[in-house]
Amino acid sequence: MGTIPSHVIEQIAAANDIVEVIGSYFPLKRAGANYRALCPFHQEKTPSFHVNPARQSFHCFGCGVGGSVFRFVMDYEHVDFPTSVRRLAARAGIPVIEERGTSYDEDRQHEARRTLLKLHVEATEWFQENLLKRELGKPAREYLKNRGLTSEVVKSWQLGFAPESWDACLKWALDRGYKRGTILQSGLVKLRDEERPESEVYDRFRGRVMFPICNDVGEVIAFSGRVLTSESEAAKYLNSPETALFRKGSTLFGLHKTKRGLIEADCAIVCEGQLDLITLFEAGLTNVVAPQGTAFTESQARILKRYVNQVVLCFDADAAGQKAAERSLEPLLENDLVVRVAEMPRGEDPDSLVRKEGADKFRARLAAAPDFFDFWIQRQASTADLTNLNAKLQVARELADTVGRVHDPLMRNEVINKVAARLAVSAADFATLLPKPQRARGSAEKQPPRTVAPAPRHEIAMLCLLALRDTEANTFLVSQDWREVIEETPGSEMLAHILESDVRPDDPASLNRFMASLAPEEESLVSGWLLQKMPPNAETVAREWWHGLRLPVLRRRLQAAESRLKLPQLSVGEEIRLQREILELRIHALEAQRQRPGLAPNELTALEKQVVDLRAQLDDFSRFSPTRALES
Ligand SMILES: [Zn+2]
Repeated sequence: MGTIPSHVIEQIAAANDIVEVIGSYFPLKRAGANYRALCPFHQEKTPSFHVNPARQSFHCFGCGVGGSVFRFVMDYEHVDFPTSVRRLAARAGIPVIEERGTSYDEDRQHEARRTLLKLHVEATEWFQENLLKRELGKPAREYLKNRGLTSEVVKSWQLGFAPESWDACLKWALDRGYKRGTILQSGLVKLRDEERPESEVYDRFRGRVMFPICNDVGEVIAFSGRVLTSESEAAKYLNSPETALFRKGSTLFGLHKTKRGLIEADCAIVCEGQLDLITLFEAGLTNVVAPQGTAFTESQARILKRYVNQVVLCFDADAAGQKAAERSLEPLLENDLVVRVAEMPRGEDPDSLVRKEGADKFRARLAAAPDFFDFWIQRQASTADLTNLNAKLQVARELADTVGRVHDPLMRNEVINKVAARLAVSAADFATLLPKPQRARGSAEKQPPRTVAPAPRHEIAMLCLLALRDTEANTFLVSQDWREVIEETPGSEMLAHILESDVRPDDPASLNRFMASLAPEEESLVSGWLLQKMPPNAETVAREWWHGLRLPVLRRRLQAAESRLKLPQLSVGEEIRLQREILELRIHALEAQRQRPGLAPNELTALEKQVVDLRAQLDDFSRFSPTRALES
């Protein structure tokens, strides 16, 4: 890919408030000047993850991760830096024009992705036009109207219609100038013979209402098509295949719109179809998700856990719905989500029910939905005679298997107690039926704590902190001979990095741009500094620490010059130059010493007197030793 110019990176940082960005993934609690949350990068019980709105940075004191808004998106979404920048740019509506870059392959890959995204945007528009403006879209319009969807809703969800044709979409895309290969990659068309890439292609979606599937920043990455009649023999829903843009198992339909509602409610209403989701959302039940396909995948459950701690499954009462609910259960429990089940009356689904009874009644249903285990026991009790010991044991065994999925120890204990009470057995007895506890999968899958960079020596860390946070301190340091000092001071690379960048301490966007130039370990170090307390007189402190750092360097140089002066066979010119250098270095060293804190007044006076003496010597030296004449 190309490189993104740094002023654009700064602009994107400025347009994405880090509190809002992180807050769109999980709730943040205000704590004084900062925000706090449980760290998403390591498992913990008390929050050590901090977000600093003034510096626009985040840092976890538990595992050490931290950095800019870009770093957060990279770590949280497992994407690389350019992707993180592009996502945040898209979020803020900033066009990213990349300077032509380094790798031809990456460039091409990026180009291909961009083309695919563009094809999806245009296809969405074309499907929409079919639905809204063309005669052939009439049955679909009627269908949606019958389902109670107004044209505003249709537009807001960008619904469309794929004509009943084998090649209408193909022809349209070719007309728009897309290559056959690209159209095939998008999944909008299919190969007649999957084995033969050169075989004929035909439209995948025919005679279906089209629901664009978006990624979390709202870019269309796939489609789901629904048949118009339930009598049709074709599958009710048909999704795009997995493509470079779309991974079905890790996408939740509508999430880009429902995120906020999920976080606020801390509970997700899970329904089966896109139409259910849209109807609920438009009725004001905005905390709703729909897995692509029928059951939750592990990865979808993990995504969901970022937003909520509780889910209510509302699957249809039919057998397929029940099965989907049961299959969803495992990944949800394994991610420590509290699962409740709202059974829909026979013949109804969330969509029809909300339209029939209204949002309030539906809400009441959700509120009354029993916990999964209660639901399950009730259902078993209705078919098996639980007063019969054998039947009861059988039910207990089956339940134990499911309870074993819960790996959070607290939650598991609670469930064990509840189930045991319902079955009228002792909790200890029931616990013996449980499978051996699984390895805490959740924690194992999370990133291992990042290797934290060895912290630089205290004085260097202090100088970095001051240079990053205080404009005056920064200006002072930049005006010094820092390159020479840093070159001779091991472990001060970070300070050099800060001073040679043109980071502006007062501008959080500039800080974010600077952090984006660092390796992850360095970035987490910096994000830690950004949360530290600042001394009130930053510039004075910077001077003190700076001279403290400089002093040993000056002393070493002084020593070197003095021993060189002792060498035999020095030319007169060299000797004079060295004597001069020694004088200058002694003055510098004394001046540096004078800046150090904690000097007694008499020490200070003595130092000042020495400096005056040395300066006088240097003056004499210059006056009476015309070096140039002697050297020549
Ligand atoms: Zn952490």
